[in-house]
Amino acid sequence: MRETLREAVDDSPAATAGLTYPFASAPKPGDALSVAPGVMWLRMPLPFTGLNHINLWALEDGAGWTLVDTGMQTTDTAAHWQQVLTGPLGGRPVTRVICTHMHPDHMGMAGWLTRQYDCRLWATRLEYLTCRVLVADTGREAPPDGLRFYQSAGWDEPALASYKARFGGFGKAVYALPDSYRRIVDGEDLAIGGRPWRAVVGRGHSPEHLCLYCAELGVLISGDQVLPRITSNVSVFPTEPEANPLEEWLESLASIGERVPDDVLVLPSHNEPFRGLHRRLAALISGHEQRLVRMQETLAKPKRVIDVFDVLFRRRVGADMLIMATGESVAHLNCLIARQLAVRELDAAGVAWYRRT
Ligand SMILES: [Zn+2]
Repeated sequence: MRETLREAVDDSPAATAGLTYPFASAPKPGDALSVAPGVMWLRMPLPFTGLNHINLWALEDGAGWTLVDTGMQTTDTAAHWQQVLTGPLGGRPVTRVICTHMHPDHMGMAGWLTRQYDCRLWATRLEYLTCRVLVADTGREAPPDGLRFYQSAGWDEPALASYKARFGGFGKAVYALPDSYRRIVDGEDLAIGGRPWRAVVGRGHSPEHLCLYCAELGVLISGDQVLPRITSNVSVFPTEPEANPLEEWLESLASIGERVPDDVLVLPSHNEPFRGLHRRLAALISGHEQRLVRMQETLAKPKRVIDVFDVLFRRRVGADMLIMATGESVAHLNCLIARQLAVRELDAAGVAWYRRT
């Protein structure tokens, strides 16, 4: 839900050079494709123009299936689940639902699946709890903290009015979560289908994002932490205006490179399975570092958040992209501040101006 296509930066040949895609085609919704022993690739549609699908994984686990991620709550997704579970997955029961992170395209149908099969949701603690917090915003009015955050970024009245009108949308895309879950901890080995899968946690895109690495199969389920053709959204939100998710994101990418070997088959949540993990990690890191340099250069003259969008986005930022563009821009600005390369000053109207040091 919070990804965006950034072809301007990441579809460039340089950023994706050297990656290979071993599968000629993706499964259609309702279908399944074997990508490794006991590992099935599923796809569900997403109702976005830029990002129209999510990949999910079904792992053979004894008599049933462990599912990894669930799709967004829509009637389409429910119908495709029925189809794939009774068809290609052979009508065997779902014994466990694992979610890589809390975004609605990943956790949206977790409550529906776990109730249907009377099984548990497994997730890291911050993903489960953060999802419950965000779902609880549905039905509330936009809080003053949120309005202050976007007003300080330089938003005009119509943009603030649209934020108010759309506040709480997250919960509409998530089926009622289970009221308890099984916590997954970084470094833990989960036994799935008789094989150990190592929990590798990253931060920055979401607070405690889970990847699963199976050394025996040479497979990494990477979630949104490593995508081959898109850069995952790394954003600051009004609940934590001083957060520095970009530094966390960069540290996480480096850490994955140390913990997971280069020769794995990477199973990402968007685009297609690929090989070339370390090359992709290096390209993602250097892409952000280059954007940080450009961001600092543009701050030779003081700028507001809405004045720096062109550093990150080649396309004009429309109303539908404003939250995401603001969040990503603040993430880069906060990272520069933490590195003592920029400062932020509020003017009399409460608008923040950034300048390089
Ligand atoms: Zn995500």
